[in-house]
Amino acid sequence: MSKLIFEKSKKGKSGFSLPEMDVPMIQHGFETRGEMGLPEVSEPEVVRHFTLLSQKNYSVDTGFYPLGSCTMKYNPKVNEDLARKEEFSLLHPEQPDGTIQGALELLHNLEGFLCQITGMSRFTFQPAAGAHGELTGLLLIKAYMEDRGEKRDLVLVPDSAHGTNPASAALTGCQVVEVKSDLQGGVDLEDLKSKLSPRVMALMLTNPNTLGLFDENIVEVARMVHDAGGLLYYDGANLNGICGYVRPGDTGFDVVHLNLHKTFSAPHGGGGPGAGPVGVKEALVPFLPVPTVDIDSRGNFFLNWDRPKSIGMVRSFLGNFLVALKAYAYILTMGGEGLKKMTQDAVLNANYLLGLLKGHYQLPFDRICKHEFVLSTAPLNKYNLKVTDVAKRLLDLGFHAPTIAFPLIVEGALMIEPTETETRETLEEFARALIQIEDEARTNPELLREAPHNTPVRRIDEVGANRNPVLRFKK
Ligand SMILES: *Cc1c(COP(=O)(O)O)cnc(C)c1O
Repeated sequence: MSKLIFEKSKKGKSGFSLPEMDVPMIQHGFETRGEMGLPEVSEPEVVRHFTLLSQKNYSVDTGFYPLGSCTMKYNPKVNEDLARKEEFSLLHPEQPDGTIQGALELLHNLEGFLCQITGMSRFTFQPAAGAHGELTGLLLIKAYMEDRGEKRDLVLVPDSAHGTNPASAALTGCQVVEVKSDLQGGVDLEDLKSKLSPRVMALMLTNPNTLGLFDENIVEVARMVHDAGGLLYYDGANLNGICGYVRPGDTGFDVVHLNLHKTFSAPHGGGGPGAGPVGVKEALVPFLPVPTVDIDSRGNFFLNWDRPKSIGMVRSFLGNFLVALKAYAYILTMGGEGLKKMTQDAVLNANYLLGLLKGHYQLPFDRICKHEFVLSTAPLNKYNLKVTDVAKRLLDLGFHAPTIAFPLIVEGALMIEPTETETRETLEEFARALIQIEDEARTNPELLREAPHNTPVRRIDEVGANRNPVLRFKK
Protein backbone atom coordinates (compact mmCIF):
# COMPACT_ATOMS: atom_id res chain seq x y z
CA MET A 1 0.00 0.00 0.00
CA SER A 2 1.17 3.49 -0.76
CA LYS A 3 1.66 5.89 2.12
CA LEU A 4 -1.36 7.42 3.79
CA ILE A 5 -1.79 11.13 3.24
CA PHE A 6 -1.20 11.71 6.96
CA GLU A 7 2.17 9.99 6.68
CA LYS A 8 3.18 12.35 3.86
CA SER A 9 2.41 15.36 6.02
CA LYS A 10 5.37 17.62 6.87
CA LYS A 11 5.13 20.78 8.88
CA GLY A 12 4.90 23.87 6.70
CA LYS A 13 3.90 22.19 3.41
CA SER A 14 0.79 23.72 1.95
CA GLY A 15 -1.59 23.09 -0.92
CA PHE A 16 -2.68 26.70 -1.27
CA SER A 17 -1.30 30.22 -1.13
CA LEU A 18 -3.58 33.06 -0.13
CA PRO A 19 -2.80 36.73 0.51
CA GLU A 20 -2.29 37.77 4.13
CA MET A 21 -5.66 38.22 5.88
CA ASP A 22 -6.49 41.90 6.43
CA VAL A 23 -9.76 41.40 8.35
CA PRO A 24 -10.31 39.77 11.73
CA MET A 25 -11.06 36.05 11.64
CA ILE A 26 -14.67 35.16 12.43
CA GLN A 27 -14.82 32.80 15.39
CA HIS A 28 -17.30 29.97 14.80
CA GLY A 29 -16.50 28.06 17.92
CA PHE A 30 -14.93 25.42 15.63
CA GLU A 31 -11.40 24.28 15.98
CA THR A 32 -9.03 26.03 13.60
CA ARG A 33 -7.36 23.91 10.90
CA GLY A 34 -4.18 23.71 12.92
CA GLU A 35 -5.90 22.29 15.97
CA MET A 36 -7.67 19.65 13.85
CA GLY A 37 -4.38 18.03 12.91
CA LEU A 38 -5.07 18.02 9.16
CA PRO A 39 -2.19 16.76 7.04
CA GLU A 40 0.12 19.40 5.65
CA VAL A 41 0.79 18.46 2.04
CA SER A 42 1.34 20.07 -1.36
CA GLU A 43 -1.34 20.34 -4.04
CA PRO A 44 0.13 17.59 -6.27
CA GLU A 45 0.24 15.27 -3.25
CA VAL A 46 -3.44 15.88 -2.59
CA VAL A 47 -4.34 15.31 -6.26
CA ARG A 48 -2.29 12.11 -6.42
CA HIS A 49 -3.73 10.86 -3.14
CA PHE A 50 -7.34 11.14 -4.27
CA THR A 51 -6.65 9.98 -7.82
CA LEU A 52 -4.88 6.86 -6.53
CA LEU A 53 -7.73 6.20 -4.12
CA SER A 54 -10.24 6.47 -6.97
CA GLN A 55 -8.21 3.97 -8.99
CA LYS A 56 -8.42 1.45 -6.17
CA ASN A 57 -12.17 1.64 -6.31
CA TYR A 58 -14.21 -0.84 -8.31
CA SER A 59 -17.32 0.48 -9.99
CA VAL A 60 -19.79 -0.34 -12.72
CA ASP A 61 -17.87 2.17 -14.87
CA THR A 62 -14.69 0.12 -14.51
CA GLY A 63 -15.95 -3.44 -14.73
CA PHE A 64 -18.65 -6.11 -14.61
CA TYR A 65 -20.62 -5.96 -11.35
CA PRO A 66 -22.90 -9.02 -11.13
CA LEU A 67 -24.04 -8.32 -7.56
CA GLY A 68 -27.28 -10.29 -7.38
CA SER A 69 -30.45 -8.50 -6.28
CA CYS A 70 -28.68 -5.13 -6.53
CA THR A 71 -29.23 -4.55 -10.29
CA MET A 72 -25.88 -2.88 -10.90
CA LYS A 73 -26.71 -1.70 -14.40
CA TYR A 74 -24.86 1.02 -16.28
CA ASN A 75 -25.89 4.53 -15.23
CA PRO A 76 -26.31 6.64 -18.39
CA LYS A 77 -24.22 9.79 -18.13
CA VAL A 78 -26.87 11.97 -19.76
CA ASN A 79 -28.94 11.54 -16.57
CA GLU A 80 -26.02 12.83 -14.50
CA ASP A 81 -25.70 15.87 -16.76
CA LEU A 82 -29.39 16.66 -16.32
CA ALA A 83 -29.24 16.26 -12.53
CA ARG A 84 -26.34 18.71 -12.40
CA LYS A 85 -28.21 21.45 -14.24
CA GLU A 86 -28.47 24.46 -11.95
CA GLU A 87 -32.18 24.79 -12.67
CA PHE A 88 -32.58 21.57 -10.69
CA SER A 89 -29.56 21.27 -8.44
CA LEU A 90 -29.83 24.80 -6.99
CA LEU A 91 -33.53 24.61 -6.10
CA HIS A 92 -34.09 25.26 -2.42
CA PRO A 93 -36.46 22.88 -0.63
CA GLU A 94 -38.13 25.81 1.18
CA GLN A 95 -38.98 27.67 -2.04
CA PRO A 96 -42.68 28.58 -2.43
CA ASP A 97 -44.67 26.14 -4.58
CA GLY A 98 -45.26 28.84 -7.20
CA THR A 99 -41.52 29.02 -7.97
CA ILE A 100 -40.92 25.27 -8.40
CA GLN A 101 -43.74 24.36 -10.77
CA GLY A 102 -41.37 22.56 -13.15
CA ALA A 103 -39.93 20.36 -10.42
CA LEU A 104 -43.39 19.54 -9.09
CA GLU A 105 -44.61 18.72 -12.59
CA LEU A 106 -41.65 16.38 -13.01
CA LEU A 107 -42.56 14.52 -9.80
CA HIS A 108 -46.22 14.45 -10.83
CA ASN A 109 -45.34 12.95 -14.24
CA LEU A 110 -42.92 10.44 -12.72
CA GLU A 111 -45.61 9.42 -10.23
CA GLY A 112 -47.90 8.77 -13.20
CA PHE A 113 -45.27 6.60 -14.92
CA LEU A 114 -44.62 4.56 -11.77
CA CYS A 115 -48.38 4.05 -11.29
CA GLN A 116 -48.64 2.81 -14.89
CA ILE A 117 -45.65 0.48 -14.41
CA THR A 118 -46.82 -1.03 -11.11
CA GLY A 119 -50.63 -0.78 -11.20
CA MET A 120 -50.76 1.45 -8.11
CA SER A 121 -52.90 4.57 -7.54
CA ARG A 122 -50.42 7.01 -6.00
CA PHE A 123 -46.76 7.25 -4.93
CA THR A 124 -44.69 9.07 -2.33
CA PHE A 125 -41.07 9.96 -3.12
CA GLN A 126 -39.94 10.53 0.44
CA PRO A 127 -38.24 7.21 1.32
CA ALA A 128 -34.50 7.42 0.72
CA ALA A 129 -33.98 3.77 -0.27
CA GLY A 130 -35.67 0.40 -0.58
CA ALA A 131 -35.37 -0.53 3.09
CA HIS A 132 -36.80 2.86 4.06
CA GLY A 133 -39.64 2.22 1.60
CA GLU A 134 -40.39 -1.09 3.31
CA LEU A 135 -40.69 0.62 6.67
CA THR A 136 -42.89 3.35 5.15
CA GLY A 137 -45.10 0.83 3.36
CA LEU A 138 -45.62 -1.24 6.51
CA LEU A 139 -46.44 1.90 8.51
CA LEU A 140 -49.05 2.71 5.84
CA ILE A 141 -50.58 -0.75 6.18
CA LYS A 142 -50.53 -0.44 9.97
CA ALA A 143 -52.28 2.95 9.81
CA TYR A 144 -54.87 1.51 7.41
CA MET A 145 -55.57 -1.43 9.75
CA GLU A 146 -55.81 0.81 12.81
CA ASP A 147 -58.18 3.13 10.95
CA ARG A 148 -60.46 0.14 10.41
CA GLY A 149 -60.24 -0.72 14.09
CA GLU A 150 -58.22 -3.87 13.43
CA LYS A 151 -55.36 -4.98 15.62
CA ARG A 152 -52.95 -7.08 13.60
CA ASP A 153 -49.37 -7.63 14.66
CA LEU A 154 -47.86 -10.37 12.48
CA VAL A 155 -45.92 -9.89 9.23
CA LEU A 156 -45.27 -12.97 7.09
CA VAL A 157 -41.91 -13.09 5.33
CA PRO A 158 -40.66 -15.97 3.16
CA ASP A 159 -37.42 -17.74 4.08
CA SER A 160 -35.90 -16.51 0.80
CA ALA A 161 -36.49 -12.84 1.69
CA HIS A 162 -33.92 -10.07 1.73
CA GLY A 163 -32.76 -9.34 5.28
CA THR A 164 -34.28 -5.88 5.20
CA ASN A 165 -37.82 -7.36 5.05
CA PRO A 166 -37.89 -8.90 8.54
CA ALA A 167 -35.86 -5.95 9.87
CA SER A 168 -38.44 -3.44 8.57
CA ALA A 169 -41.31 -5.50 9.96
CA ALA A 170 -39.64 -5.64 13.37
CA LEU A 171 -39.17 -1.85 13.35
CA THR A 172 -42.94 -1.36 13.08
CA GLY A 173 -43.38 -3.33 16.30
CA CYS A 174 -44.79 -6.36 14.49
CA GLN A 175 -43.68 -9.92 14.97
CA VAL A 176 -42.08 -11.66 11.99
CA VAL A 177 -43.32 -15.10 10.97
CA GLU A 178 -41.31 -17.02 8.40
CA VAL A 179 -43.02 -18.79 5.50
CA LYS A 180 -41.27 -21.72 3.83
CA SER A 181 -40.39 -21.97 0.14
CA ASP A 182 -41.61 -24.92 -1.90
CA LEU A 183 -39.52 -27.10 -4.20
CA GLN A 184 -39.99 -24.62 -7.07
CA GLY A 185 -38.56 -21.84 -4.90
CA GLY A 186 -41.93 -20.08 -4.48
CA VAL A 187 -44.17 -19.62 -1.45
CA ASP A 188 -45.19 -22.98 0.03
CA LEU A 189 -49.00 -22.71 -0.07
CA GLU A 190 -49.56 -25.28 2.67
CA ASP A 191 -47.16 -23.51 4.99
CA LEU A 192 -48.72 -20.14 4.15
CA LYS A 193 -52.18 -21.52 4.93
CA SER A 194 -51.05 -22.76 8.32
CA LYS A 195 -49.68 -19.34 9.22
CA LEU A 196 -52.60 -17.15 8.15
CA SER A 197 -54.76 -15.83 10.98
CA PRO A 198 -56.71 -12.72 12.03
CA ARG A 199 -53.43 -11.46 13.51
CA VAL A 200 -51.67 -11.29 10.13
CA MET A 201 -51.22 -7.70 8.94
CA ALA A 202 -49.27 -8.34 5.75
CA LEU A 203 -47.22 -10.70 3.64
CA MET A 204 -44.01 -9.19 2.23
CA LEU A 205 -42.87 -10.68 -1.04
CA THR A 206 -40.52 -10.00 -3.88
CA ASN A 207 -41.50 -11.52 -7.22
CA PRO A 208 -39.36 -12.66 -8.97
CA ASN A 209 -37.86 -13.67 -5.63
CA THR A 210 -34.22 -13.60 -4.58
CA LEU A 211 -33.66 -16.87 -6.46
CA GLY A 212 -34.61 -14.99 -9.64
CA LEU A 213 -37.72 -17.16 -9.94
CA PHE A 214 -41.21 -15.90 -10.66
CA ASP A 215 -43.79 -17.29 -8.25
CA GLU A 216 -46.49 -18.63 -10.55
CA ASN A 217 -48.91 -19.05 -7.65
CA ILE A 218 -48.89 -15.35 -6.89
CA VAL A 219 -52.59 -14.76 -7.64
CA GLU A 220 -53.52 -17.65 -5.34
CA VAL A 221 -51.13 -16.37 -2.65
CA ALA A 222 -52.75 -12.91 -2.85
CA ARG A 223 -56.24 -14.40 -2.63
CA MET A 224 -55.32 -16.41 0.48
CA VAL A 225 -53.79 -13.40 2.27
CA HIS A 226 -56.71 -11.13 1.35
CA ASP A 227 -59.24 -13.73 2.47
CA ALA A 228 -57.53 -13.71 5.85
CA GLY A 229 -57.87 -9.92 5.97
CA GLY A 230 -54.19 -9.15 5.40
CA LEU A 231 -52.51 -7.01 2.74
CA LEU A 232 -49.66 -7.73 0.33
CA TYR A 233 -46.43 -5.77 0.31
CA TYR A 234 -44.29 -5.90 -2.83
CA ASP A 235 -40.54 -5.54 -2.44
CA GLY A 236 -39.79 -4.02 -5.85
CA ALA A 237 -36.03 -4.59 -5.82
CA ASN A 238 -36.44 -7.27 -8.50
CA LEU A 239 -38.70 -5.31 -10.84
CA ASN A 240 -35.99 -5.55 -13.52
CA GLY A 241 -37.16 -9.13 -14.10
CA ILE A 242 -40.76 -8.26 -15.00
CA CYS A 243 -41.02 -4.53 -15.74
CA GLY A 244 -43.42 -3.92 -18.62
CA TYR A 245 -44.73 -7.50 -18.51
CA VAL A 246 -46.36 -7.96 -15.10
CA ARG A 247 -47.71 -5.23 -12.83
CA PRO A 248 -47.52 -6.10 -9.12
CA GLY A 249 -50.85 -4.31 -8.63
CA ASP A 250 -52.55 -6.65 -11.12
CA THR A 251 -51.32 -9.73 -9.25
CA GLY A 252 -52.85 -8.55 -5.97
CA PHE A 253 -50.21 -6.41 -4.26
CA ASP A 254 -51.54 -3.44 -2.27
CA VAL A 255 -48.30 -1.56 -1.53
CA VAL A 256 -44.99 -1.53 -3.43
CA HIS A 257 -41.62 0.09 -3.11
CA LEU A 258 -39.33 0.59 -6.08
CA ASN A 259 -35.57 1.07 -5.94
CA LEU A 260 -34.97 3.88 -8.44
CA HIS A 261 -31.25 3.18 -7.98
CA LYS A 262 -31.74 -0.39 -9.19
CA THR A 263 -34.37 -0.74 -11.91
CA PHE A 264 -34.27 2.87 -13.07
CA SER A 265 -30.52 3.22 -13.42
CA ALA A 266 -29.66 5.87 -10.83
CA PRO A 267 -26.26 5.11 -9.25
CA HIS A 268 -26.18 3.52 -5.81
CA GLY A 269 -23.78 2.40 -3.15
CA GLY A 270 -20.72 4.60 -3.27
CA GLY A 271 -22.11 6.26 -6.41
CA GLY A 272 -24.67 8.38 -4.66
CA PRO A 273 -27.91 8.41 -2.72
CA GLY A 274 -30.85 6.21 -3.65
CA ALA A 275 -34.61 6.59 -3.66
CA GLY A 276 -37.29 4.12 -2.61
CA PRO A 277 -40.66 5.59 -3.66
CA VAL A 278 -43.69 3.78 -2.26
CA GLY A 279 -46.90 3.24 -4.22
CA VAL A 280 -50.29 2.21 -2.85
CA LYS A 281 -53.72 1.17 -4.04
CA GLU A 282 -56.63 3.59 -3.61
CA ALA A 283 -57.66 2.40 -0.12
CA LEU A 284 -54.28 3.37 1.32
CA VAL A 285 -53.89 6.76 -0.41
CA PRO A 286 -55.21 8.79 2.59
CA PHE A 287 -52.33 7.51 4.74
CA LEU A 288 -49.45 8.52 2.42
CA PRO A 289 -46.76 10.79 3.92
CA VAL A 290 -47.24 14.55 3.64
CA PRO A 291 -46.87 16.43 1.46
CA THR A 292 -48.19 14.91 -1.76
CA VAL A 293 -47.78 16.74 -5.08
CA ASP A 294 -51.32 17.70 -6.13
CA ILE A 295 -52.97 19.94 -8.76
CA ASP A 296 -55.38 22.74 -7.80
CA SER A 297 -58.51 23.78 -9.71
CA ARG A 298 -56.52 26.22 -11.87
CA GLY A 299 -54.07 23.55 -12.95
CA ASN A 300 -51.21 24.65 -10.68
CA PHE A 301 -49.10 22.12 -8.81
CA PHE A 302 -48.92 22.46 -5.04
CA LEU A 303 -47.63 20.57 -2.03
CA ASN A 304 -50.64 19.23 -0.19
CA TRP A 305 -50.11 19.17 3.59
CA ASP A 306 -53.82 18.92 4.37
CA ARG A 307 -54.11 15.17 4.73
CA PRO A 308 -55.56 14.34 8.15
CA LYS A 309 -54.98 10.57 7.98
CA SER A 310 -51.36 10.83 6.78
CA ILE A 311 -48.68 8.92 8.70
CA GLY A 312 -46.69 12.20 8.60
CA MET A 313 -43.24 12.68 7.12
CA VAL A 314 -40.72 9.85 6.86
CA ARG A 315 -37.95 12.09 5.57
CA SER A 316 -37.30 15.78 5.03
CA PHE A 317 -38.99 17.58 2.13
CA LEU A 318 -39.66 15.53 -1.02
CA GLY A 319 -36.98 12.88 -0.70
CA ASN A 320 -33.96 12.64 -3.01
CA PHE A 321 -35.35 14.79 -5.80
CA LEU A 322 -32.31 14.52 -8.09
CA VAL A 323 -32.46 10.72 -7.96
CA ALA A 324 -36.11 10.90 -8.99
CA LEU A 325 -35.02 13.21 -11.82
CA LYS A 326 -32.49 10.65 -13.09
CA ALA A 327 -35.16 7.94 -13.05
CA TYR A 328 -37.55 10.26 -14.91
CA ALA A 329 -34.95 10.97 -17.58
CA TYR A 330 -34.27 7.24 -17.88
CA ILE A 331 -37.95 6.34 -18.30
CA LEU A 332 -38.43 9.09 -20.92
CA THR A 333 -35.32 7.89 -22.80
CA MET A 334 -36.48 4.27 -22.79
CA GLY A 335 -40.18 4.73 -23.39
CA GLY A 336 -42.69 1.96 -22.72
CA GLU A 337 -41.32 -0.36 -25.41
CA GLY A 338 -37.77 0.37 -24.27
CA LEU A 339 -38.57 -0.68 -20.71
CA LYS A 340 -39.95 -3.97 -22.01
CA LYS A 341 -36.76 -4.44 -24.04
CA MET A 342 -34.75 -3.71 -20.89
CA THR A 343 -36.54 -6.56 -19.11
CA GLN A 344 -36.21 -8.90 -22.10
CA ASP A 345 -32.47 -8.30 -22.33
CA ALA A 346 -31.97 -8.63 -18.57
CA VAL A 347 -33.76 -12.01 -18.60
CA LEU A 348 -31.95 -13.13 -21.76
CA ASN A 349 -28.54 -12.20 -20.31
CA ALA A 350 -29.25 -14.03 -17.06
CA ASN A 351 -30.42 -17.18 -18.83
CA TYR A 352 -27.50 -17.10 -21.28
CA LEU A 353 -25.01 -16.84 -18.41
CA LEU A 354 -26.87 -19.55 -16.51
CA GLY A 355 -26.57 -21.78 -19.57
CA LEU A 356 -22.81 -21.21 -19.73
CA LEU A 357 -22.32 -22.10 -16.05
CA LYS A 358 -24.75 -24.98 -15.71
CA GLY A 359 -22.79 -28.22 -15.40
CA HIS A 360 -19.86 -26.41 -13.78
CA TYR A 361 -21.67 -25.30 -10.63
CA GLN A 362 -24.58 -26.83 -8.77
CA LEU A 363 -27.93 -25.28 -9.67
CA PRO A 364 -30.39 -25.88 -6.79
CA PHE A 365 -33.48 -24.64 -8.65
CA ASP A 366 -33.18 -25.69 -12.28
CA ARG A 367 -35.77 -23.47 -13.97
CA ILE A 368 -35.77 -20.66 -16.51
CA CYS A 369 -34.82 -17.66 -14.40
CA LYS A 370 -35.80 -14.03 -14.64
CA HIS A 371 -33.12 -11.34 -14.14
CA GLU A 372 -30.83 -13.37 -11.84
CA PHE A 373 -30.05 -16.89 -10.69
CA VAL A 374 -28.46 -18.66 -7.74
CA LEU A 375 -25.71 -21.30 -7.92
CA SER A 376 -24.34 -23.30 -5.00
CA THR A 377 -20.69 -23.91 -4.17
CA ALA A 378 -21.63 -26.68 -1.68
CA PRO A 379 -19.87 -29.37 -3.83
CA LEU A 380 -16.57 -27.51 -3.21
CA ASN A 381 -16.86 -28.21 0.55
CA LYS A 382 -14.91 -31.40 -0.05
CA TYR A 383 -11.84 -29.32 -0.99
CA ASN A 384 -12.36 -27.36 2.22
CA LEU A 385 -13.45 -24.32 0.22
CA LYS A 386 -16.26 -21.90 0.96
CA VAL A 387 -18.21 -19.56 -1.28
CA THR A 388 -16.07 -16.68 0.02
CA ASP A 389 -12.99 -18.32 -1.53
CA VAL A 390 -14.65 -18.40 -4.95
CA ALA A 391 -15.72 -14.78 -4.57
CA LYS A 392 -12.25 -13.63 -3.53
CA ARG A 393 -10.62 -15.46 -6.45
CA LEU A 394 -12.95 -13.65 -8.85
CA LEU A 395 -11.41 -10.36 -7.71
CA ASP A 396 -8.01 -11.61 -8.96
CA LEU A 397 -9.56 -12.23 -12.35
CA GLY A 398 -10.86 -8.67 -12.55
CA PHE A 399 -14.52 -9.08 -11.63
CA HIS A 400 -16.66 -7.83 -8.80
CA ALA A 401 -17.99 -10.82 -6.87
CA PRO A 402 -21.65 -11.79 -7.07
CA THR A 403 -23.77 -11.61 -3.93
CA ILE A 404 -22.71 -14.54 -1.72
CA ALA A 405 -24.22 -16.59 1.11
CA PHE A 406 -27.67 -15.22 0.31
CA PRO A 407 -30.49 -16.27 0.04
CA LEU A 408 -30.00 -18.29 3.20
CA ILE A 409 -31.98 -21.26 1.89
CA VAL A 410 -29.14 -22.14 -0.53
CA GLU A 411 -25.88 -23.36 1.00
CA GLY A 412 -22.88 -21.53 -0.47
CA ALA A 413 -25.10 -19.29 -2.59
CA LEU A 414 -23.63 -17.36 -5.49
CA MET A 415 -26.37 -14.97 -6.61
CA ILE A 416 -25.58 -13.62 -10.06
CA GLU A 417 -27.38 -10.74 -11.79
CA PRO A 418 -25.75 -9.66 -15.03
CA THR A 419 -28.33 -6.94 -16.00
CA GLU A 420 -29.24 -5.95 -19.54
CA THR A 421 -26.40 -3.50 -20.07
CA GLU A 422 -23.64 -6.14 -20.44
CA THR A 423 -22.41 -7.48 -23.75
CA ARG A 424 -22.32 -11.13 -24.70
CA GLU A 425 -18.49 -10.96 -24.66
CA THR A 426 -18.48 -9.79 -21.03
CA LEU A 427 -20.84 -12.58 -19.99
CA GLU A 428 -18.59 -15.12 -21.72
CA GLU A 429 -15.43 -13.75 -20.07
CA PHE A 430 -17.11 -13.91 -16.70
CA ALA A 431 -18.28 -17.48 -17.30
CA ARG A 432 -14.73 -18.45 -18.31
CA ALA A 433 -13.41 -16.96 -15.07
CA LEU A 434 -15.90 -18.89 -12.92
CA ILE A 435 -15.20 -22.11 -14.82
CA GLN A 436 -11.45 -21.59 -14.35
CA ILE A 437 -12.04 -21.11 -10.62
CA GLU A 438 -14.01 -24.34 -10.40
CA ASP A 439 -11.08 -26.07 -12.07
CA GLU A 440 -8.58 -24.47 -9.68
CA ALA A 441 -10.74 -25.54 -6.75
CA ARG A 442 -10.07 -29.15 -7.67
CA THR A 443 -6.42 -28.83 -8.69
CA ASN A 444 -5.08 -26.04 -6.46
CA PRO A 445 -7.52 -25.17 -3.66
CA GLU A 446 -4.81 -23.28 -1.77
CA LEU A 447 -4.84 -20.66 -4.54
CA LEU A 448 -8.48 -19.91 -3.73
CA ARG A 449 -8.08 -20.01 0.03
CA GLU A 450 -5.40 -17.32 -0.15
CA ALA A 451 -7.07 -15.17 -2.79
CA PRO A 452 -7.15 -12.36 -3.67
CA HIS A 453 -3.51 -12.18 -4.71
CA ASN A 454 -3.34 -9.02 -6.79
CA THR A 455 -5.78 -6.49 -5.27
CA PRO A 456 -4.55 -3.37 -3.40
CA VAL A 457 -5.77 -4.93 -0.15
CA ARG A 458 -5.61 -8.72 0.27
CA ARG A 459 -8.02 -10.77 2.34
CA ILE A 460 -9.07 -8.80 5.35
CA ASP A 461 -9.74 -10.08 8.82
CA GLU A 462 -13.53 -9.71 8.67
CA VAL A 463 -14.12 -10.59 12.32
CA GLY A 464 -11.43 -8.17 13.44
CA ALA A 465 -12.81 -5.45 11.17
CA ASN A 466 -16.17 -5.90 12.87
CA ARG A 467 -15.00 -6.21 16.46
CA ASN A 468 -12.10 -3.75 16.48
CA PRO A 469 -12.69 -1.32 13.63
CA VAL A 470 -10.02 1.34 13.15
CA LEU A 471 -11.95 4.17 11.63
CA ARG A 472 -9.47 6.99 11.84
CA PHE A 473 -5.77 7.59 11.49
CA LYS A 474 -3.80 7.63 14.72
CA LYS A 475 -0.18 8.60 14.91
C1 LIG B 1 -31.67 -4.00 -2.43
C2 LIG B 1 -32.78 -4.75 -1.85
C3 LIG B 1 -33.54 -4.22 -0.79
C4 LIG B 1 -33.16 -2.95 -0.05
O1 LIG B 1 -33.06 -1.85 -0.86
P1 LIG B 1 -32.06 -0.64 -0.51
O2 LIG B 1 -32.38 0.36 -1.55
O3 LIG B 1 -30.67 -1.19 -0.61
O4 LIG B 1 -32.39 -0.18 0.87
C5 LIG B 1 -34.65 -4.93 -0.37
N1 LIG B 1 -34.99 -6.10 -0.93
C6 LIG B 1 -34.27 -6.65 -1.93
C7 LIG B 1 -34.72 -7.96 -2.53
C8 LIG B 1 -33.13 -6.00 -2.42
O5 LIG B 1 -32.41 -6.53 -3.40
